[in-house]
Amino acid sequence: MSSIAENLGIIRARIDDACRRVGRDPSEVRLVGVTKTVPASRIREGVQAGIAILGENYIQEARTKVEALGDLEVSWHFIGHLQSNKAKIAVECCDMVHTVDRESLALELDRQAKRAGRVVPVLIQVNVGDEATKSGTSPEALPGLFRVVSGLEGLAVRGLMALPPYEEDPESARPYFRMLRELLEGLKRDAPKPGDLRELSMGMSHDFEVAVEEGATLVRIGTALFGERAPRNPA
Ligand SMILES: *Cc1c(COP(=O)(O)O)cnc(C)c1O
Repeated sequence: MSSIAENLGIIRARIDDACRRVGRDPSEVRLVGVTKTVPASRIREGVQAGIAILGENYIQEARTKVEALGDLEVSWHFIGHLQSNKAKIAVECCDMVHTVDRESLALELDRQAKRAGRVVPVLIQVNVGDEATKSGTSPEALPGLFRVVSGLEGLAVRGLMALPPYEEDPESARPYFRMLRELLEGLKRDAPKPGDLRELSMGMSHDFEVAVEEGATLVRIGTALFGERAPRNPA
């Protein structure tokens, strides 16, 4: 099995190549190492190899790992579905939340952020494939949700996030990545500070190059970096 450092080098080179193909500056693309089910010792190895941002899906797991790895210079992004009653934990342990998908969650995150005396950078998650099994606001409801979240003093909207329908062929995700970029362009046209809206969190192990070609600024990569995950809920 290759080391995390080797995997990181290969992924970074592929991101840089994808940038070159479309004339983007590679420094615009940041890698989020997705650590669900990955033990703290491997995460530590990843950070020592140069991973600067970690992404967690499960809030309890995030809290445990942030405590175990509190000595590391790394930022933690929350990328999973968040229940409103867990918003407090997310505010306490995470630097950014990628998955604001409804007003009730935004209001609770805002309340907790104010109590903690911080402004939490967030992304709005869009259900680009209109899938019943996935979280995210519909593209139609996005402008309304964006207006609400933008008005909250405890939150700072930085962009959008999506998890397109899974297909083997990474090219099949391209229209969804493009849709997310166009939705962000649409929001920028009406935003008071369009420069603050710059993040597109999209692309995973099997399709990150396509995502980068379509404008991703945060790619969320798990298996290509840390190896195959053990099944979380063995049947
Ligand atoms: C698991 C996960 C990823 C990473 O998936 P890989 O295919 O392992 O790279 C990215 N984003 C989200 C939201 C995830 O849940």
